[in-house]
Amino acid sequence: MSRDAAFTVVGGGLAGSLMAIYLGRAGHAVDVYERRPDPRLAGADAGRSINLAISTRGLYALEQVGLRDQVLAMAVPMRGRMIHATTGDLTFQPYGTRDQAINSVSRAGLNQLLLNAAEKTARVPVHFNQRCEVVDFEHGTITFASPGDEQTVIETGAIVGADGAFSTVRTQMMRRERFTYSQAYLAHGYKELYIPPAAGGGFRMDPNALHIWPRGGFMMIALPNFDGSFTCTIFWAFEGDNSFQNLTNEDDVIRFFTRTYPDAVPLMPTLAQDYFSNPTSSLVTVRCSPWHVGGRAVLLGDAAHAVVPFYGQGANAAFEDCVLLDQCLKTAPGDRAAAFTRFEQTRKRHADAIADLALGNFVEMRDRVASPTFLFKKKVEKLIHSIFPGTFIPLYTMVSFSRIPYADAVEKARKQDLFLKAAGLIALIGLLALVIAAARTLG
Ligand code: FAD
Repeated sequence: MSRDAAFTVVGGGLAGSLMAIYLGRAGHAVDVYERRPDPRLAGADAGRSINLAISTRGLYALEQVGLRDQVLAMAVPMRGRMIHATTGDLTFQPYGTRDQAINSVSRAGLNQLLLNAAEKTARVPVHFNQRCEVVDFEHGTITFASPGDEQTVIETGAIVGADGAFSTVRTQMMRRERFTYSQAYLAHGYKELYIPPAAGGGFRMDPNALHIWPRGGFMMIALPNFDGSFTCTIFWAFEGDNSFQNLTNEDDVIRFFTRTYPDAVPLMPTLAQDYFSNPTSSLVTVRCSPWHVGGRAVLLGDAAHAVVPFYGQGANAAFEDCVLLDQCLKTAPGDRAAAFTRFEQTRKRHADAIADLALGNFVEMRDRVASPTFLFKKKVEKLIHSIFPGTFIPLYTMVSFSRIPYADAVEKARKQDLFLKAAGLIALIGLLALVIAAARTLG
């Protein structure tokens, strides 16, 4: 196969390894270059389990390459939110119907499964410990560096930049004219903590829920792992009230958690150590355009559109990108520039929509999920959805349990909200008219 026909995927993370499978299956020659060591080798990623939620969009993308059932077999279904009050009271809010669940999966486990599947296509060699440093789009060359700083220059037909939120391929595109780019950091960061399995095995909390400790302005969440543990994530401001800045020693940590998340503390025996040994990371939204350089290079997943994690959609959206890019390449065989253009034109507004939704959902999760108005609205939506399941669909259901493109889901939800408000107003006027009529009859 000629060099010009070959694809090089930069980044062997979730999007990169899935895209490589799609490309391999479509008959393209494809190489993956990944900065990190092979995660399947002992010791490469021996940290505690970090998980993420995969829902309908991600599962669909996996199904197309025959991996859905394998992923579900290593997932813990979460059927709703479990809200933890400071009193220790628990409230369960289902996400949808009983058979609707988002699935907590080990990130490392998922990545390894995808890398294995990519290599199994027999068309996808994966080169580890290769950090992309320079991309020459005109000549189709990429310079990689190994950990010892040994440089390798490769020639390729097309580059798929799947190297994540801090993408080097994107940085190289930014040197070109008229590349639009923005990155916006939240004032909040995150840190992962740990709840181990119960002494005799099994879970210490309900495994089939995404646990939330909403505290107004900040929160903690916990997702179950297959081994009976939970990965907790605190989302706090870097500075100011209730922030990372305020806790400087182990006593501070235990005191603050006991006051704020009292029911969680007995479940977290290594809390103070974890708090200081685990990193505090930032949360960024990245928007950019164009996503491609002619038919030479295209961005995918977080490299094109990193979003904050509050809708649990970053990886799902990255997987959905792979489905679409595969379709675009098949619709325009031999014309990668047309395929990449179509990919961006179709996808960009939906990527922007999920970025906005994810930002909005942070406020919902940390501030609103426990409020009576929020709960009432959810109940009304659920009731109407059960009466008109094909017509009225709550936004969360459209995003997590359907493949309705994100921006279309937002638009439909806006119309539904208007309808709800109008219906509420009409009901109120009707009620008032009844009261007035009754008063007149009696008086
Ligand atoms: P990445 O997974 O970041 O992969 C990029 C790969 O490129 C990595 O392997 C990296 O090592 C490699 N790389 C980077 N630079 C180079 C280079 N110069 N050369 C070679 N290789 C390079 N999404 C969900 O759908 N559900 C969730 O529940 C969810 N929870 C999240 C929770 C948190 C706290 C965070 C931060 C994110 C969460 N996400 C979630 C988002 C999800 O993690 C990302 O959207 C997803 O990982 C994007 O996949 P990607 O392949 O584009 O990027």
